[in-house]
Amino acid sequence: MHEMAVADGIIKIIEEKLKEQDPKAEVRKVHLKIGKLTCVEPEALRLSFEILSRETPLQKASLYIKSIPITGKCKDCRKNLRLTKLDFACPFCGSFRLEIKTGRELFIESIEIK
Ligand SMILES: [Zn+2]
Repeated sequence: MHEMAVADGIIKIIEEKLKEQDPKAEVRKVHLKIGKLTCVEPEALRLSFEILSRETPLQKASLYIKSIPITGKCKDCRKNLRLTKLDFACPFCGSFRLEIKTGRELFIESIEIK
């Protein structure tokens, strides 16, 4: 499952940071930004995080997931787009020549510790 690997990565990154900066800290909140193009399911990610964070400084942390829509621009009709489906055709002219601007994000925006 894709989300397991993502949750594992998030936990490892934060654990490393804590080791350097504040080894006794407990993480309360983790704010994430996740683009729709990453195909990460927020519910599956929460579940994976809950399982994998046991016995780590993140075990009491709640995940706050901000979903980033897929937006871009059509290279043919030059219109700005917001795609709701993953079919990648311009809704105005049907072109497949799209420039994707957002939707690939997958990062930790901030964490709150105690
Ligand atoms: Zn177009």
